[in-house]
Amino acid sequence: MKQYLISPKTKQYRANLHAHSTFSDGKLSPEELKRAYRAQGYSILAVTDHEHPKSHFELSDPDFLMLTGYEAYIRTNASARFDRYEPEVHLNLFARDPHNETMICFNESYVKYIDDPAERANLRRVGSERPREYSVSYINEFIRTAAAHGYLVSYNHPVWSLEDEETILSYENIFSLEICNYSALRQNGEEFSCALYDKMLRRRMRVFCHAGDDNHNKQPLDCPRSDSFGAFTMILSDSLSYDSVISAMERGEMYASSGPLIHEISLEDGVVHIECSPSKRIILHTGSKAPKFEIAPKGQTVSSADLKLDPIAPYLRVMVIDEEGGIATSRGFFRSEFLA
Ligand SMILES: [Zn+2]
Ligand SMILES: [Zn+2]
Repeated sequence: MKQYLISPKTKQYRANLHAHSTFSDGKLSPEELKRAYRAQGYSILAVTDHEHPKSHFELSDPDFLMLTGYEAYIRTNASARFDRYEPEVHLNLFARDPHNETMICFNESYVKYIDDPAERANLRRVGSERPREYSVSYINEFIRTAAAHGYLVSYNHPVWSLEDEETILSYENIFSLEICNYSALRQNGEEFSCALYDKMLRRRMRVFCHAGDDNHNKQPLDCPRSDSFGAFTMILSDSLSYDSVISAMERGEMYASSGPLIHEISLEDGVVHIECSPSKRIILHTGSKAPKFEIAPKGQTVSSADLKLDPIAPYLRVMVIDEEGGIATSRGFFRSEFLA
């Protein structure tokens, strides 16, 4: 029997799950961001300002959804000073409830963008407010607190953050890895973290993956250096309602891309069938040294492949690379999710 991991029948919505607005250090207002992203064919935008939990749900339309969330961070010094050679942790907190504006582990030195005294005074604060500490135990406690108060927590831009890989692999309750961060990719050329993601999957960590722009829009949208429209997440959802989209994310019904689209991944009789936009390579990763792959002859493209699944593969992850070097990747699907 054929099993669909990505069904061609499910609608895919283009999302940017990481954006900064004038509510922190971004140049565009949430309204301007919404307009710009809608004009580029997006249907979903999460405005995730630094340490500023703020719902922009009221800007949603029947054909455009604003997700609620914010970006939290933990640095190695208690004063939260930026040091370009020190590691730090950035987490996106996506609210299950569109009106959730809860601040996790409030710390004066981190909260720089809530200027309005009334907003500050009325902030709903939960979790320990002791000085933030750059340690695995503190960060795990932070993530646990966020998860307990209605947030899905993602781990952001692992290359930019300079953390040791073993440290990243010690974090618990991460719902998704930001496998591609366009703002950083544009700058460092390396912020597509497939090898790290495979390491998580090889350790049987149940983590999904997604991509986002992390745009601050310090350059105009049509400038080659612009940090918008470079990496996105396709969310597979029955509708564009807040509940339907956030539940799809929570179930991992999404994939990350800096270009190609994946139309179908299905499994039948031990063969994985993939349909995608015209690309150079289609690769089936399973955590082994020998992924199966399809490659287009010079000057041509491929848009489908049938790749045999290793019968002992613990998981599968489909990756597609297009002619411009754009990459799309599915999440890891574990053997326990496959039909027998
Ligand atoms: Zn960040
Ligand atoms: Zn950011």
